[in-house]
Formats: sequence, C-alpha cells, structure tokens
Amino acid sequence: MRLSGERRSVTSRISLSEPRPIRRPETERWLWIFDFDGTLSPIVPDRHSAMMDRSCRRLLMDLMQAGQQVAILSSRRLDDLYPRIDLPGVYAGGGMGLEWILPSGERRSYAEAFEEDVIHRRTAMSGQLDYIEHVLDADVEDKFWTVSVHVRHLEQDRKEEVKRELDAAARLYGLKIRNAPEAFEVLFSPSLDKSFGVSVLCRIAKWEASRGRLVYAGDDENDSVAMELVAHLGGVTISVARFPTVRESIVVRDPPHLAAVCRSIAGL
Ligand SMILES: [Mg+2]
Repeated sequence: MRLSGERRSVTSRISLSEPRPIRRPETERWLWIFDFDGTLSPIVPDRHSAMMDRSCRRLLMDLMQAGQQVAILSSRRLDDLYPRIDLPGVYAGGGMGLEWILPSGERRSYAEAFEEDVIHRRTAMSGQLDYIEHVLDADVEDKFWTVSVHVRHLEQDRKEEVKRELDAAARLYGLKIRNAPEAFEVLFSPSLDKSFGVSVLCRIAKWEASRGRLVYAGDDENDSVAMELVAHLGGVTISVARFPTVRESIVVRDPPHLAAVCRSIAGL
C-alpha cells in the first residue's frame, strides 16, 4: 500500500518539462548511475561504517535482473568503495570515475592523465590542509584525487572559518570546492569531477542515446555537475535532498524513497 503512495508522489514531482510520468519502455536498456554516500547509503557520523541501504541493494539487483546497466560513481577511492558494494555485475567507479571495476571484473584506470597536476596542487595546498586539520580541528579525509573536509562535529562559526580557508586556497591554487552535507570536497584538478566520471562510464559501458536513457541519482553539489550533463543528454536526474540539486530533478527524501521512485520509473 505504501508503495502505491510513493508512486503517486513520483508523478507529482516530475518537472514541468515532463508532461507524463517517466516510465522506462519495457524493451529499453537504460544506464542507471548512483552516487554512494548519502544516496545509496544514508549519511552516518562515521564514514567508515557507511553501508548500502537494503532497499537500494534490492533495487540494484532487480535492475540488473531486468537487464539494466547499473553503475555506482563515488569520490571514495575504488578500493574503499568496492567492498561496500559487494554486488557482482555493477560498474564501480572510484575517484569520481578515474578508476573502475567493470562487471567482468576488469579494472580500468584513467589516473595517469591527472596525476602530475594533482600532485602539484596537493603539495601547494598541504600547509592550508594542515592548518584546517590541526588548528581548526576539521576531520580531513585524504582520497588523493580529492580531499573531504568533514565538519559535522564543529560549531557553526568554526565551519564558516573552514569554508573561508578553503575558498582562499581555491582562489590561490585554482581548486574547486563543492558543498556536501556536513563536509566540503576539495577537487584538486578543475576538469576532474563527476561529469568526467559520467563521460568515461558512457564510453566503457558503450551507452548510446538512441538505445536508452541515463538516470543519475546524487545528493550533493559534486553530483550536480554530473546531473547537468545527464539532463543535457536527455536523461533523468534524481536528488536525494530536500531541494533539487538540478532544476529538473525528481526530489526524494532518503535512500528507501529513492529505491521506490526508481522502481516506479523502471517498471519493477
Ligand atoms: Mg553523496
């Protein structure tokens, strides 16, 4: 009964540009792309204990069973991400799509093109990151290609101080800072973001616009660039947030709601 209520809410959240509810034609093979933290996994105080929501895990299995292509694209390093997925058959992308494990188990890396640039900017910014970690007491998670600065435990004025430091470093060294729930993501290379990951995935999954749509679900500013690309390519975007990350996005409140909405779209 609850599910039917969810389905009605899908209809009401579709943007004005979609005159009818989005529904995958039964014969089409779509490429479904999910962020991990905050999207498939609820945000937890300890990022080391993040696990995929059970209803999302079932969704991914059922999508694959229905012949759909499924990918998880995260800023976590691939070796950190992959054991948390534990689902054969998905495309798993770490480092925002620099490193992949394909459904066949094959590994692909696109890291070489970015390595020199990233090392240069990491070195340049190391003093500011030390200050943010040891003086401002933020929790700095080094993922090499990016750094997440977690501020959940800090007072509001300290959070703002961390943001000011990051913005100053971004201007100085040409970095990008993205807002995430209770964290800031530092992107060392300006062209390395999740839209890069989506482009790489479309190539390795041999996705073609003529044969099916893209779906992208994410929860923060780092996902919004990927969602803009997906929307531009005629795809469906879903924001796990109170407000849409991208204007046309379907808004869902949490991972179980995301699973219900995706089921409705996929016709599962
Ligand atoms: Mg996220």
